[in-house]
Amino acid sequence: MENGSSENCCVKVAVHIRPLIADERLHSCKDCVIVVPGKPQVQLGSHSFTFDYVYGSTGSPSSAMFEECVAPLVDGLFQGYNATVLAYGQTGSGKTYTMGTGFREGYQSGIIPQVMNILFDKIENRRHQTEFQIRVSFIEILKEEVRDLLDQSSVGKADAFNIPAGKTIPGKPPVQIRETSNGVITLAGSTEVDVRTQNEMASCLEQGSLNRATGSTNMNNQSSRSHAIFTITLEQIRKLAPVFNADGETIDEMNEDYLCAKLHLVDLAGSERAKRTGSDGLRFKEGVHINKGLLALGNVISALGDEKKRKEGIHVPYRDSKLTRLLQDSLGGNSRTVMIACISPADINEEETLNTLKYANRAR
Ligand code: ADP
Ligand code: MG
Repeated sequence: MENGSSENCCVKVAVHIRPLIADERLHSCKDCVIVVPGKPQVQLGSHSFTFDYVYGSTGSPSSAMFEECVAPLVDGLFQGYNATVLAYGQTGSGKTYTMGTGFREGYQSGIIPQVMNILFDKIENRRHQTEFQIRVSFIEILKEEVRDLLDQSSVGKADAFNIPAGKTIPGKPPVQIRETSNGVITLAGSTEVDVRTQNEMASCLEQGSLNRATGSTNMNNQSSRSHAIFTITLEQIRKLAPVFNADGETIDEMNEDYLCAKLHLVDLAGSERAKRTGSDGLRFKEGVHINKGLLALGNVISALGDEKKRKEGIHVPYRDSKLTRLLQDSLGGNSRTVMIACISPADINEEETLNTLKYANRAR
């Protein structure tokens, strides 16, 4: 049996099985994914995989996913830990639905809208003792280029498929990934919106989602070949009680404690093979580039999860793609990472589903 469970690892892996959708039922698709009752174990044909969690179909209900996988990461944010949630899977497997990165029916049950709910609840409960600053950025990586989804000036001009590779929107310098001397990754040239309320954050999600590039392929006319990354940065200034010395004199009037952490919520590009999109050479090239990010991500997570290798100080190949470079300070180290492998239960997707389970299984 292939065992992807990771007790003491910084990367947790969950599988999310969406229900058969109308289109699949229309084509008389059969459900080919079996969940072993009471276990986070999935069987597909002769293959069997164990993960940290399995949701949907006959596994735990999807509603448990947020509580078990994501809520602890939001708690960690308040303690200063960076975190990353990744939705992986082929186009149509439910990544956007799961993350809530689209404004369609049901998006409110997605991870990002739920993160907003508990984030602002927690902030409200702590306001009396802590000053908060919340910032949001929303970018996508397409063809190894970073695009700012919150840039007002690019709205309406954002059809990335009309822009040749290597060119950006006229007048706008490309967003650059930089690393500060203390290892913090920053995005130079991308919009960071200061948000004060949940509504303000929701409108950032909406604006960026609408602005996200999509293009049609043979597989799915809403196919996403870009990685979309919604990032919440939380800064906290906690006001501590004044500090007195033994004689009762004030040493420190306004004692303050500063914490800053970020949470990346990532709707990854479709994991299907470029050949399956079967269209022109340009699309194929995009596919190759996307695979570069997903390939690098797989290698990074695999290197992080291998405790033996980690102890030997193995090189973690963050620099192999824009995606892993951008997530570098939020994958590994003290950061917490959850990968949600999204799969369709339909037999026509069996080959890609197996690829997804194998990829997720390596993330250990
Ligand atoms: P992806 O982003 O991976 O391409 P989508 O999130 O767009 O996939 O989902 C593909 C289709 O499946 C959409 O029609 C979506 O509404 C539906 N879907 C995905 N997940 C679920 C779910 N958990 N329950 C019901 N429908 C779902
Ligand atoms: Mg999608």
